[in-house]
Amino acid sequence: MIENAVLIKQGAEARVYTAPFLTRTAIIKERFPKTYRHPILDNKLTTRRVTQEARCLFKCYRSGVDTPVLYFVDIENNAIYMEFVKGKTLKDLISEMGEWSSSKYEELTTKIGVALAKMHSADVIHGDLTTSNLLLRESNNSLVVIDFGLSYISSLPEDKAVDLYVLEKTFLSTHPNSESMFTSILDIYKNNYKASKDILSKLAEVRLRGRKRSMVG
Ligand code: AMP
Repeated sequence: MIENAVLIKQGAEARVYTAPFLTRTAIIKERFPKTYRHPILDNKLTTRRVTQEARCLFKCYRSGVDTPVLYFVDIENNAIYMEFVKGKTLKDLISEMGEWSSSKYEELTTKIGVALAKMHSADVIHGDLTTSNLLLRESNNSLVVIDFGLSYISSLPEDKAVDLYVLEKTFLSTHPNSESMFTSILDIYKNNYKASKDILSKLAEVRLRGRKRSMVG
């Protein structure tokens, strides 16, 4: 057990805590064993997942995307220690957006499009791009990408297109009238990522598949 840790989320695969770490506050994400799996295999798979999350987080950070700073990986306890980022989620920001000026709106869509372009240029697929996993850092208004728990490395346009599709779906399902915002984000993404042409045509295919699937049920 981590000293003075406060549980903030109990998920299906991991517990997330805040706790003091040296002179700062850290987020600690601890994956726990799955009892239905053989313990040796389970530990191997969990450790692989923890390493992959830390690797993707760091790769993204190194490619110039603002992410929580990786403090420490505790392989023995399958835990990742990272910077606690104080800020608002994109989800909350969108619900406040009624009062926003067009320049503030443009600033935000630009930040998101640029961050996604940098992340995909580094071949990091986030795997769970939702408006809850994008934060605006309180100290400097920088756009921070969090939760690399389902992330992996891939250079395939299809994987990047699905990543964008997941974000598009959360936009359209949870934020009414946000289509234009997502369109602006895609424009910025395109202008900041030379290889985006194939990804955007794949996105059109993925959308079509999604639509067919929802029609069939
Ligand atoms: P996760 O399972 O990584 O999505 O974490 C669960 C929740 O903890 C997130 O939805 C955030 O609200 C919060 N959280 C995770 N990582 C951070 C972080 N580095 N800084 C601040 N809050 C975080």
